[in-house]
Amino acid sequence: MSNFSDIYQNIPIEALVQQSSDTNELIVKRILGKGEVRNLDDFAALISPLAGGYLEELAYHSNKITKNHFGKTIRLFAPIYLSNECVNICTYCGFSRNNKIPRITIPLEQVVSETRMLANQGFRSLLIVAGEHPKYVSNGYVENCISHCLKIMPSISIELGPLEVENYIPLVKAGCEGLIVYQETYHEDTYKEIHPVGPKKKYSWRMDTPQRAYAAGFRKIGLGALYGLYDWRYEALSVAAHALFMLQHCWKVQLSISVLRLRPSMGNFKPNKNYLMSNRDITQLICAFRMLLPHANIVLSTREPAALRNGLVRLGVTTMSAGSSTEPGAYSNFEESNWSPKQKQPGEQFHIADDRSPREIASMISGQGYEPIWKDFDQSLVTSS
Ligand code: SF4
Repeated sequence: MSNFSDIYQNIPIEALVQQSSDTNELIVKRILGKGEVRNLDDFAALISPLAGGYLEELAYHSNKITKNHFGKTIRLFAPIYLSNECVNICTYCGFSRNNKIPRITIPLEQVVSETRMLANQGFRSLLIVAGEHPKYVSNGYVENCISHCLKIMPSISIELGPLEVENYIPLVKAGCEGLIVYQETYHEDTYKEIHPVGPKKKYSWRMDTPQRAYAAGFRKIGLGALYGLYDWRYEALSVAAHALFMLQHCWKVQLSISVLRLRPSMGNFKPNKNYLMSNRDITQLICAFRMLLPHANIVLSTREPAALRNGLVRLGVTTMSAGSSTEPGAYSNFEESNWSPKQKQPGEQFHIADDRSPREIASMISGQGYEPIWKDFDQSLVTSS
């Protein structure tokens, strides 16, 4: 199989961005008349500034397609941060190795007790997150965390530094079903500028991680870009191209697309004002992704503010995190009755924007006539067959 990083070199993303800004009403109306898109040319038209004026029609199609494929449901998951130790410098991240924060990797017993706390809140789906450090994998720590947490949480995914296929296989064997890896930015020059030190410098290596994850046996794979690092239409077209590639070449995968905007964090990173993405832009993009990828999960995290998350429940999103902390060990410091920190700790990756408790999020979802889903049944169907 070819690598996506090789194929990507020949996809004219700049030209598609230009095509997007040159889109005319005839093209947009033709696509909206069909109610779906199947290629990057039409996707470029749907994310165009001009199509931003047709948000109601986009929302109508996105809502309809999502209900057809997922019903009126929103899946909930919680991240658990194992460690903020990291060998990389990523200029936009609180865990960047040059930031002066207390570095911790929480012991297995604490990982298990925090997972139990999350289960008590209702979660049955866990995302294990850590900075990039070779020791997590070489000493079997992550594998141990997976196998112990699996006794409490039936569905576990990971978001770690990219690995080789042979390093992924033990994690899959331990019971991990999903892997999330964001390219951050697909724009190579920007990528190199904001990742000056550490293994994350390897742009193509990161880009081909989803294929290695698939080869290792992960059943669920998540892609995305961090919007705000470069032009959002460039990133969106690249994510769309990557998703189409995965569906074609790794067709058994259950694909998810995360739509993430930069959040404030430690360090002196100043987002470029030209690359800011508005609430309207993010809504347009989610609808366009839905029209291109009708079966993909679309994930919206607590990076986004409460009012926007409330509004997007009906517009194409299928999966949300809730009650999240981005600090390793932070849940141990949470009051279980109202799910809020007893005191602030200094080691978070970024500040979340929606700090409502899992119960408040579930009730917001039910209040809109949607069902909050705590447990993904797919894994049990796969293992029992
Ligand atoms: S983004 Fe990931 S790899 Fe980069 S500094 Fe943060 S935790 Fe480390």
